[in-house]
Amino acid sequence: MKAELSKALAEIVGSDYFSDRPEELYLYSRDPGAQLPRKVDGVVMPRTVDEVQRIVALANREKLALTPMGAGLTLSALNVPLKGGIVLDMKRMDSILEVNKASRYVLIEAGVTQAALSAYLEKNHPRLQHSTPESPPTATIVGNILIHGHGHLTPRYGVNSQMVNGMEVVLPTGEVCQLGSGSISPNWFSRDPLPDLMGLFLGWLGTTGIVTKLSLQLFPKPAFRDLLLFVSDSVELIPELIAEFSQINLLENCFIITQEKPRWAQRIYYIIVVSGESQEEFEVKKKMHEGIFEKYKVEPVAEEKALAALRERFLGVPPFAATAADFRKGGGFEYTGAILPIEVIPEAWRKGIEIAHKQDFLYQLGIQLLPNGHSVMLAYSYAFNRAQADEFERARKALDDTNRLTLGLGGVAWKPELPAQKLILERMDANTRQLIKRVKKMLDPNDIMNPGNWEVA
Ligand SMILES: Cc1cc2nc3c(=O)[nH]c(=O)nc-3n(C[C@H](O)[C@H](O)[C@H](O)COP(=O)(O)OP(=O)(O)OC[C@H]3O[C@@H](n4cnc5c(N)ncnc54)[C@H](O)[C@@H]3O)c2cc1C
Repeated sequence: MKAELSKALAEIVGSDYFSDRPEELYLYSRDPGAQLPRKVDGVVMPRTVDEVQRIVALANREKLALTPMGAGLTLSALNVPLKGGIVLDMKRMDSILEVNKASRYVLIEAGVTQAALSAYLEKNHPRLQHSTPESPPTATIVGNILIHGHGHLTPRYGVNSQMVNGMEVVLPTGEVCQLGSGSISPNWFSRDPLPDLMGLFLGWLGTTGIVTKLSLQLFPKPAFRDLLLFVSDSVELIPELIAEFSQINLLENCFIITQEKPRWAQRIYYIIVVSGESQEEFEVKKKMHEGIFEKYKVEPVAEEKALAALRERFLGVPPFAATAADFRKGGGFEYTGAILPIEVIPEAWRKGIEIAHKQDFLYQLGIQLLPNGHSVMLAYSYAFNRAQADEFERARKALDDTNRLTLGLGGVAWKPELPAQKLILERMDANTRQLIKRVKKMLDPNDIMNPGNWEVA
């Protein structure tokens, strides 16, 4: 990068918060997933909206690409520049600005992490909670929402991007915009009934603007919470059971998992999280779920040792996903989330196992129910040893096969890495594709924001 450009960026944020040193850029040039490293020219860590605006102004003048980053944990390298330029690391913008207890929302800056918000609420508002993903605790709330992530309250209240009341965004042309009720009042309590501009930024992978603040809905935290465990061998039964849970609509969360090792884990396990404000409410919900499984002759697992292990793994907030990841020597973990209609689950499940075996991996599948059982996220995980070139390559092939399977079954690949974005765009309605192109061009005329992502020729 040109010396004058480095100097100008260091002047905006202070010299401690700009770097173009190779040892630091190394960290920004890759993520823990299966994408190949890419070139980064610099990293900048703004603290204020004004600094973000000045960086954007400079980037437009110099035609410098800007890639926003939260914690960089999508495993799809969405925060690693495709066309060089600088990473805009948002971690320093980490203030929790306001909690409104009555209207139940929190206003945060873009760098606030899942762990920071959970700890803050636990200490100051123990009866409130937000929907926490299984990702490592350093993941940012904004990064998760911008990829339409999901958390432990998703089956009940919606995917996390549906919980947004409003946002503040620095547009690629430098103006600051408030969206939602925050655009007309000091209260960030609602997204409706204004034109919903949130969709210009959700799911766009940082290509349409830089989110600097976000108002997120909070939810009551029930006094009682526990899990129930059931086990079955029938893949065909999964859609029917999901329909039954949705009919009574009483669960907080639900995971359906299997994995190849150890051997006993090869069956299909249903982990049902139920909660309640009183012991009585909790017991009723528990009983109703037990009734469903009894009707389908699916066995409960009452073994206290197994339940204790699962409580530790699934009831924490966030749940302790690292135990599921099976990281191996050399590091490297990839999972692709297939967002699927309910009826294709059995085929997606079986073919997922075939793909893992074809690429010589142990299979590991997990379903999380999406809102009201209208769809699911089926995660296909591949743990690999990054130090082994052939294993790395097989993980990439498995990822590609899985994305093709997902699209072939009429689903959508979630948090798509570049090759998956291309597969999605290829299948997309031609007018929709052109609309994406026009929206991007309108918002970002100089194509400086995370260029190369959602790129329509
Ligand atoms: C073990 C493991 C388990 C996981 N479990 C879950 C899960 O249960 N649910 C789930 O949803 N996800 C899960 N994930 C995926 C991912 O970690 C999370 O979604 C995470 O919250 C993403 O946040 P991030 O801060 O890492 O985002 P980043 O990777 O930093 O960013 C995501 C995208 O948003 C853009 N972006 C980031 N900040 C801004 C900003 N301020 N303005 C504009 N654009 C921005 C980036 O350019 C990128 O395109 C998991 C990951 C791992 C490794």
